Amino acid sequence: MHRLFLLLVAIAGIAPAVLAAATPDERLQVAGATITVVFVTPPGEPLRQLVLDWVTASAGAVALYYGQYPVPQVEIRIDFHSGRGVRSGRASGWRGAHITISAGAANTARDFAADWMMTHEMIHLAFPSVAERHHWIEEGISVYVEPIARARAGIISAEDAWKDLVEGVPQGLPEAGDRGLDFTPTWGRTYWGGALFCLLADVEIRRRTGNRQGLQDALRAILRAGGTIENDWDLRRAFEIGDRATGVPVLRELYEKMGAATYAPDLAALWRELGIEPHAGRIVFNDRAPQASIRDAIDPPRKSARDPVGQ
Ligand SMILES: [Zn+2]
Repeated sequence: MHRLFLLLVAIAGIAPAVLAAATPDERLQVAGATITVVFVTPPGEPLRQLVLDWVTASAGAVALYYGQYPVPQVEIRIDFHSGRGVRSGRASGWRGAHITISAGAANTARDFAADWMMTHEMIHLAFPSVAERHHWIEEGISVYVEPIARARAGIISAEDAWKDLVEGVPQGLPEAGDRGLDFTPTWGRTYWGGALFCLLADVEIRRRTGNRQGLQDALRAILRAGGTIENDWDLRRAFEIGDRATGVPVLRELYEKMGAATYAPDLAALWRELGIEPHAGRIVFNDRAPQASIRDAIDPPRKSARDPVGQ
């Protein structure tokens, strides 16, 4: 309880319910977790409600993917900048899970729906903090899972989610002079190299398990074992738990292939096998492709972007 709040109640005798509505902190309950939204500067309406809806929708998408919200409690500090958009997102587990992020003061509901950053930061909560040289896995998981989680929640379409990956992942391929992911801390290799690792892991786990398991099962197991941003882990421990959950040592093998050495898969062949065909700036699904069922298991298509199925 804020001291100022009590003081105002004492002085003015104003009904606490009225004052409570005017305090800047908000508590949201999503999938059993408590999300405290702290406004650095109190917004007016309707901006306050738009922010709360944005936090709730992002949290819902993350909880849907992981089967739970990553941590029981998180503080999200919202700053506002002039104009529109979302920027400067950061997640940390030091002294409790928290996220800082800046939203445009002129943002509309559409601007918030178009944002990926809040979901990206929340996904960071669902993986342990690992040594700096493995930073690519933390960013890679957030970059890879974010569009899939938002598509499954019906916030974006499956086509848009795959478009994001098809256009982004080539930036993660090794360039001349690059070494493995642990030894090439460039932007492209950290964010998209990590996402490429996740994509290859997801497809390979599904191939080897007859599409019964995927990266999602590995990530859920790591989270259930306590692998959150609040805990420092050895990366190998996380991969062991993930591999045990899926029953196939894909994370370990792929890490041996990509951690210290360069590995450049044939992406055009991968998209062809998954039945993901870029066509005039859009993505067209080919359901006759040999691995189309794997593609659909990763990111099920919907009749429309606003038509999520319950799962
Ligand atoms: Zn990040």
